Amino acid sequence: MSIDLHCHSTISDGALTPEQVVRLAHANGCTMLALTDHDHTAGLAEANAQAQQCGINFINGVEISVSWRGRTIHIVGLNIATDDLLLQNLLAQLRAGRLQRLRAISDKLAKKGISGAYEGSIALATHAEMVTRTHIADYLINNGHVRKKADAFRKFLGDGKSCSVRHQWAELSETVNAIHHAGGLAIIAHPIRYDLSATARRNLFSDFKDCGGDAIEVHSGRTNLNDRLNYALLAQHYGFLASCGSDFHREGDYGGGQLGKCPELPPTCKPVWNLFR
Ligand code: AMP
Ligand code: MN
Ligand code: MN
Ligand code: MN
Repeated sequence: MSIDLHCHSTISDGALTPEQVVRLAHANGCTMLALTDHDHTAGLAEANAQAQQCGINFINGVEISVSWRGRTIHIVGLNIATDDLLLQNLLAQLRAGRLQRLRAISDKLAKKGISGAYEGSIALATHAEMVTRTHIADYLINNGHVRKKADAFRKFLGDGKSCSVRHQWAELSETVNAIHHAGGLAIIAHPIRYDLSATARRNLFSDFKDCGGDAIEVHSGRTNLNDRLNYALLAQHYGFLASCGSDFHREGDYGGGQLGKCPELPPTCKPVWNLFR
């Protein structure tokens, strides 16, 4: 059994189409897959159809951008109904905000002598309103302003860097509510990656619990056994279910693991997928 409940396609900032994602996951031995594009569910129908052909168990997912106590965090929704209006309204609002943020970032880049980032980044995105910082980074690379993506984030786009802007994403509670309204489970994505103090992490987990949050990713991207044991203990402590995902965007990318493959969760975990059957 090989399970991957977090990955991206060209609908957000991944390199493969939804169909290609499912085929590669299948080729890698995956038996249960969720596609979780940022703030958009437009890839799920295509992925579902391909999963039926491959015989993979497919779960509808989404990764929602949230502002929590001044930080950006990501909440994954799994097993959602894609026609839920409350959820779709929330996602549409988030995408509209992305265009406003792009305008602000482009203005800052223009002051540094880098023009055309607004139109240029949109041109690289599958959906204009689903433009991510990855698309802006690609624009900067394509136009010779930086050599690689990591440099684009280090120099311009990373949080607190010269052309970053503070952005207001969704509220934590409205996000959990919308996922539940759509019949799904709400999961804190990659908690290991937020660079939180022990106190801040406690606050995040208890706020999420108070909002009715269901689970955390005990494995995401490239964890080691020690990381997984740590987060398994935290899940147990807060009464969260456990999830796992590669966060695959493209081969060899920042933070992501191999598509379709996740290590086994520690035996104390209560896996989210037990609720999918
Ligand atoms: P956004 O949601 O538009 O702010 O874009 C965030 C996306 O950019 C994340 O989902 C990652 O895929 C990518 N990203 C964030 N930080 C970095 C980084 N330091 N290097 C490369 N990619 C990054
Ligand atoms: Mn991403
Ligand atoms: Mn994320
Ligand atoms: Mn992700």
